[in-house]
Amino acid sequence: MKKNKLNEISNLGEFGLIDRLTKNFTITDKKLVKGVGDDAAVFESSQDNCFLIATDLLVEGIHFNLIYSPLKHLGYKAVVVNLSDIYAMNAKPKYITVSIAISKKFSVEALDLLYEGILLACERFDVELIGGDTTSSLSGLFINITVVGEARKEDIVYRSTAQKNDLICVSGDLGAAYMGLQILEREKEIFIQDPQIQPDLQNYEYIIERQLKPEPRRDIINRLKEAGIKPSSMIDVSDGLSSEILHLCKQSNLGAVIFEDKIPINEQTAKAAELFRLEPLIPSLNGGEDYELLFTIPLSEKDKIEKVQDISIIGYMHENPEKKVIVPKYGEEIELKAQGW
Ligand code: ADP
Ligand code: MG
Repeated sequence: MKKNKLNEISNLGEFGLIDRLTKNFTITDKKLVKGVGDDAAVFESSQDNCFLIATDLLVEGIHFNLIYSPLKHLGYKAVVVNLSDIYAMNAKPKYITVSIAISKKFSVEALDLLYEGILLACERFDVELIGGDTTSSLSGLFINITVVGEARKEDIVYRSTAQKNDLICVSGDLGAAYMGLQILEREKEIFIQDPQIQPDLQNYEYIIERQLKPEPRRDIINRLKEAGIKPSSMIDVSDGLSSEILHLCKQSNLGAVIFEDKIPINEQTAKAAELFRLEPLIPSLNGGEDYELLFTIPLSEKDKIEKVQDISIIGYMHENPEKKVIVPKYGEEIELKAQGW
């Protein structure tokens, strides 16, 4: 007798799974401007203004490891990853809710530290904690934060509005958080084998900080505003450059061409990649957790963007939606692929 075979989640991948789970939910509310499919959902709060909502779940053992994540940093990071999604819509975060599930191993003092980090992020980015939920867990710590943002309707930038020939730009540098994680993992293994050995994190402080305490790019949003540039599309880099470029392409129904030698990579990232025998390009394309902003602008804004600090122009949107490539320093174009989980 033939057994009914169940479909494994890995056959669909994260985004295939989200598409499948949400496909039957049609939207009828006229005030909803954007539902599933961008960094945040958007709905009208008045004729000219909108609220935005984004949420993220961090799971112990999957998104963080308490052996090397100080709880204060973790609290800060849990807020930041949410703020990043609101900035990626060119909006201002306003309120957060924080829900936690905690196992027995956590003391009150440990949770105090977590909330110190949350408070620090709230103060620094001018957001207010307005609620949440607290419950117990059988296996480790779960942190779910939801952020509410606001913006003028005309200021909001979506993933779906890039135009052909627009320049593709990215802030900061890429791949650092991933290589920081590799260094931390290496030291964890050494520590497990011999707790007497002190961790050797010297020369990798920058990339470790990028992993443990990322900063959302509010500064970039402000600088673009000052320069009079409104991106034609935008997304934050949480899953790696490749994956985010493919999102812009899919949502805007365009292709993209990026140039390897334009991708910004910090020296420490390149050094760590070398140590792990990786091409530095690999963590930049597939690493994730950079929380940089990836956006497009019309070609006519090129002069303006070149004056904005900490931005690299890495390629352009191509009219053919099938063409999604990276042009290496030498040799033939390589197809951009998203790393699945
Ligand atoms: P980001 O990386 O910017 O946080 P995600 O890749 O997590 O975005 O999510 C992509 C889109 O899918 C978002 O609009 C998000 O709200 C939606 N989404 C993710 N998971 C679910 C789910 N389980 N049910 C409904 N919508 C989801
Ligand atoms: Mg995002």
